[in-house]
Amino acid sequence: MDQDAVLNLFRTSGALLEGHFRLSSGLHSERYLQSALVLQYPEFAARLGEALAARTSHLQATAVLSPALGGIVIGQEVGRALGIRALFAERQDGVLTLRRGFSLGATDRMLVVEDVITTGGSTLETARVAEAAGAQVLGAAAIIDRGVDPASLGLPLQSLVQLDVPSWPPDACPRCAQGEPVTKPGSRA
Ligand SMILES: [Zn+2]
Repeated sequence: MDQDAVLNLFRTSGALLEGHFRLSSGLHSERYLQSALVLQYPEFAARLGEALAARTSHLQATAVLSPALGGIVIGQEVGRALGIRALFAERQDGVLTLRRGFSLGATDRMLVVEDVITTGGSTLETARVAEAAGAQVLGAAAIIDRGVDPASLGLPLQSLVQLDVPSWPPDACPRCAQGEPVTKPGSRA
């Protein structure tokens, strides 16, 4: 699955919009990315999971670990395609934690899977959860890489698409400067 095929799935499902948007952060952007909208279709989720599995099978991971909530669906699909367990970590009192009886140990070789990687912060936090449980982290995978610095990650990263999603405060927004009306993603005209 090449980059265009992945982006077509995102566009078809409304998970990638292009225009002039006011994000929930208050910043303006020319792109709006919401991967839950592509992953809501099981056949699309399966295809994306298989594509990431094909790029990471050489690592011979024994389990997938994803950060909740965004990483759960794609983590499950990558685990299914690789034939290995798929676990998720979730926040408890603000700290990413293994709950629900999930356990990892010294024989587990982990692949961290997310939908979108932006700064790499949640990837590293998820990797630390696995390492704290005694497991080894072999690498990370994401459907979309928004331009993380590989050196800051310190892990091999596989992604299906590299996509820049620049954003600006309203007073620095080039589309506002051209007088284009701004819309809120998800609202219908
Ligand atoms: Zn604007």
